[in-house]
Amino acid sequence: MTELGVMGFTGADQPDASVYNTCIRCGLCLPSCPTYLETMTETSGPRGRISLIKAVAESQLDLRSPGFVEQMWQCLDCRACEAVCPSGVHYGQLVETARVQIRRAVAPTQAPWSERLQKFMLQTLFARLDLLRAAAALLRFAQQTRLTALAGLFGAARAAQLAPDISRQFFEPRDQRYIAKDPQGTAFLHTGCIMQVAFANVHRATVRMLVRGGLSVVVPSGQGCCGAIALHAGEIDFTRALAKRNIEAFERSGADVYVVNAAGCGSALKEYAELFALDEAWARRAAHFSERVRDVTEVLDALDLPAPERELNAIATYQEPCHLVHAQRVTGSPRRLLAKIPQLQLVEMDESTVCCGSAGIYNLTQPEMASRLQRRKVDAVIRSGAGVVATANPGCALQVSAGLRAAGYRAEVRHVVELLDDAYARDA
Ligand code: SF4
Ligand code: SF4
Repeated sequence: MTELGVMGFTGADQPDASVYNTCIRCGLCLPSCPTYLETMTETSGPRGRISLIKAVAESQLDLRSPGFVEQMWQCLDCRACEAVCPSGVHYGQLVETARVQIRRAVAPTQAPWSERLQKFMLQTLFARLDLLRAAAALLRFAQQTRLTALAGLFGAARAAQLAPDISRQFFEPRDQRYIAKDPQGTAFLHTGCIMQVAFANVHRATVRMLVRGGLSVVVPSGQGCCGAIALHAGEIDFTRALAKRNIEAFERSGADVYVVNAAGCGSALKEYAELFALDEAWARRAAHFSERVRDVTEVLDALDLPAPERELNAIATYQEPCHLVHAQRVTGSPRRLLAKIPQLQLVEMDESTVCCGSAGIYNLTQPEMASRLQRRKVDAVIRSGAGVVATANPGCALQVSAGLRAAGYRAEVRHVVELLDDAYARDA
């Protein structure tokens, strides 16, 4: 390695030649790529990015060249390209490991202070969920007393705008047990990080729906963050540390299925097998774990739920989270569940599968492209005429809500499971 250039990838966690060499350069993925749709530029699309990765691998391009680094971070890792690729190019493997390589090539002392602060925050708050809950409690106080209005003075206006409304009561994993009548099995509920402090109602609705469907639910305290945000940031070793905690918690629980209600987390959890594929000690355990992970909509769709009685008189549209539709290929289950709700009219928005620009912390790291995609999504919602936007991922919910607010369009953004739970609530 020289100060001027880093040629080729090195060490563990490299883009796999057998993946990037599968690309036949057909370009069929281009119309699915959000950044290509916005820029119409080859390098801002999957085919161009694969060429850049190959050029670095073959030492024709410096790993630290600004063009390469920019494209690896401009990509949303939304996996839309992967879902439509006729050659089956597993693009996620390429971009995620390319980011790991960039992270490792830039020594910690070279990173700007803001990036070091971001890394510290990520590793502290996602490793120590008690600290995350304390930080969330402070944010809740700031929101209740409107101190967040001062965020602009500290250059944090965008972060404050995108910050979730913190739940009145967190849903902290404390070994709770909810027993179904005549249980058909036991579900482990993944409580995550942001979900437990800002979407506690979604967890409560999830528990009620699973129990109605005949599954008992356990919420083991030993679990933690899934690691998706860390992986998107190229911090793969930290991701593995977080993953081990969840695998161990699931093994101890004795549950039959690992249920998750955040699409981004579900995708990461289902890919633990890949994360540990070369680790002799963990490969089998990770594979066993990943086989048992299910999105809550998949689980509920497969259960024999009675028809809900309560009507929801509204027009709804479904915003597909990238990591549910592209990474997990789950698209029918949420729609079938919404179709059960009496009087709820489901209309399809244009481009429901195009990323809204949330993508983990993308809306903080790439604000310009995130805003463009947010606007594109909001325009599609407005054209649909819906008064309810159903989704299945907290990042999408925050991004779409903030965009709708800014556009002055009144629509509720809710998780599919919350809407379903409302339709079953007898006392509502
Ligand atoms: S669709 Fe697949 S094979 Fe075709 S250019 Fe895109 S990544 Fe390559
Ligand atoms: S992951 Fe998404 S943003 Fe990245 S190249 Fe593929 S389609 Fe484009």
